[in-house]
Amino acid sequence: MSLPVEPDHALAVSLFAQLVAQSHDGVGITRDSYGDGENAAHALFRAAAERSGLEVRSDAAGNLYLTLPGRDRGAPAVMTGSHLDSVPRGGNFDGAAGVVAGMAILAGWRRAGLVPDRDVTVMAIRAEESAWFPLSYAGSKAAFGLLDAVALDLRRADTGRTLAEHMRAAGGDPGAVAAGIATLQAANIDCFVELHIEQGPVLDESSDVLGVVTGICGSRRYRHATILGQYAHSGATPRSHRRDAVVAAAALVTAVQRAWVALEAAGHELTVTVGQCTTDAAQADFSKVSGRVDFSIDMRSRSLATLDAMEVAVQAIRTDIMQACRVEIDLGPVTASAAGVMDPALQAMLTAAAAEAGVPARAMPSGAGHDAALFAAQGVPAAMLFVRNAHGSHNPDESMRLDDFAQATRVLANVLGTRAGVSLSTVTLNSCQSV
Ligand SMILES: [Zn+2]
Repeated sequence: MSLPVEPDHALAVSLFAQLVAQSHDGVGITRDSYGDGENAAHALFRAAAERSGLEVRSDAAGNLYLTLPGRDRGAPAVMTGSHLDSVPRGGNFDGAAGVVAGMAILAGWRRAGLVPDRDVTVMAIRAEESAWFPLSYAGSKAAFGLLDAVALDLRRADTGRTLAEHMRAAGGDPGAVAAGIATLQAANIDCFVELHIEQGPVLDESSDVLGVVTGICGSRRYRHATILGQYAHSGATPRSHRRDAVVAAAALVTAVQRAWVALEAAGHELTVTVGQCTTDAAQADFSKVSGRVDFSIDMRSRSLATLDAMEVAVQAIRTDIMQACRVEIDLGPVTASAAGVMDPALQAMLTAAAAEAGVPARAMPSGAGHDAALFAAQGVPAAMLFVRNAHGSHNPDESMRLDDFAQATRVLANVLGTRAGVSLSTVTLNSCQSV
């Protein structure tokens, strides 16, 4: 079904430009979670939605809901949207593209006087990125009543202030959030379809414009792991007497890599990354055997069993290297996010809508985490549409073509419209009534 009403692309272009103007930090885009950058973005969309005549509300965590009311206000709502925060010095499209797309669709429909059968809501989600607070999906978790007091006590990496303090300063009510009061319930949501830029090179290196996501990887992370050996004189300490943390770290990284390769060879799909591996700058020296290395391990997969298998492998590697290198290895607390299973019916609708519009699309997994995974974990039928984007993401060079975005927005509009009972006859009926 092709919708007769085009999304408001001019509004989308203007929103992207305003986002750049208000969140460019001199190098890239910074929209800090529960800080000035994210707050300003929320204010921008609130104002745009009010101008477009949409219903606007926010919840205790400061998530924003922009709704085109349907005929049956009690029917489960069709939802779309994404997050408005960014990593420090990130790009303009990560997250924001999904909110802009939803806003452009609803503004177009509202202007045409179109009334869907059920509510269609664009959600601008708070604090999806874990760069600021050490947790993912804070906003969507809070919306489902899943953000507890422990999480609200987590401190932001740069300010040292707690999530609760930041939330209150942004106009939220952390007490209500901690009490687990849910704004969203799976039973009241027909579906959640999130448009997002692709954050890897797959689409950009192919001839496909869109990706229909088959599943979202969950994660298992050791964010603060440590190897403790013994500092010693590099000339005076024989090898037999060394407890060298750097040698242990090198052995550990190599063994972890080997375990990843072995799991892949056995048919598992996962990524494993040691993204941080540092000696203590205050104590390490070229003439010292190092006594300490801090490191992290990030493991991602769509399969819980695969994450379990990799975690078992890491624990075994830890034991082996502690013995072989005579060091202590503390992996620290492990954090986890659930994998997201994408709804097959929604995937089929997105694929069909792309084909109907003549936009090349492919099925692909998402290695990065997204709020859609949280919706899926709550039992909401969820799906994601990736848009081709050059130069990856989480950097200032993100580069999505606005033509690609316009095509993606039309495909999204088609699926949202089908789910919400928007049809040509609806439009005809309304335009007749308004004459
Ligand atoms: Zn994102």
